[in-house]
Amino acid sequence: MSFQLTILGTGSATPVLTRNPTAHHLQIEHEGYLIDCGEGTQNQLLRYKLRTTKLNYIFITHLHGDHFFGLIGLLSTLNMHRRIEDLWIFAPKGLAEIITLQMKYSDTRLNFKIHFTETQTEKSYLLFENEYVSVTTIPLIHRVPCCGFLFKEKTKKRKIIKETKPNDLSFEEIRMLKNGEDIFNIDGSVKYKNEVYTTPSLKSCSFAFCSDTLFTESVIDIIKNADLLYHEATFLDELLPRATQTNHSTTKQAAMIAKKAKVGKLIIGHYSSRYKELETHLAEAREVFMNTYLAIEGETHKIRDTKV
Ligand SMILES: [Zn+2]
Ligand SMILES: [Zn+2]
Repeated sequence: MSFQLTILGTGSATPVLTRNPTAHHLQIEHEGYLIDCGEGTQNQLLRYKLRTTKLNYIFITHLHGDHFFGLIGLLSTLNMHRRIEDLWIFAPKGLAEIITLQMKYSDTRLNFKIHFTETQTEKSYLLFENEYVSVTTIPLIHRVPCCGFLFKEKTKKRKIIKETKPNDLSFEEIRMLKNGEDIFNIDGSVKYKNEVYTTPSLKSCSFAFCSDTLFTESVIDIIKNADLLYHEATFLDELLPRATQTNHSTTKQAAMIAKKAKVGKLIIGHYSSRYKELETHLAEAREVFMNTYLAIEGETHKIRDTKV
């Protein structure tokens, strides 16, 4: 099963030539999930060869421009590419109104249906689920309503071992074996013992996305033990007062969250435009949480890439 993150934008609100504003692409099974959609995100999707035909879900953390100004352009392009499949967009109150107004005055008529879901940013709750993944909100503290998202794979089924698979298995018996059950004879004796015919299911992986936020330990319980955490680190530690004033986090604060939540790996990003090089960001974060990596556009991080 494929479960991987590709980073499309690492900058913050003020534009710089070397960075795009926030956007991350998640590949789960055969489908694409976009998290935030800063200006130019559609160009980044093209640049890194991520197919928009498989993009079915868009999650917007908050309505600051560096997190959604690319959305109307992307939607218009999907329409020009003759998309007809439904699209689901999750965002705080206001986005549906903004997009509808933009469509109205640009006389853009979509050939596909958008399902808008308004996120409640003050509490953590199950926002979305399908066969493969569940998405839970992570309330964040920012100047406007804002929440992150925890993507958690659904529990895996066991896999039947081809070499030992009996020929007379019915569909129902295959389902039972995949669910970890033994198969019994009519007299109650064991016909097929599960552990002989199946391999254990793989661990379910999770990815937590913490967008713009003041340092808050309230996220720790929600993201506990996540395999991968993205957490903004707009400023170096020396600008802690500036981070606090603007409702953002520093390198060390992001790393502290990773450490306390015992995540497997941390990616930091959303760098302030004042920073030309990022080595100090990495060094500072690693002082607190060693398994930290810089968000770099075009890089893919495999959360899971194992065939089940
Ligand atoms: Zn931002
Ligand atoms: Zn913001």
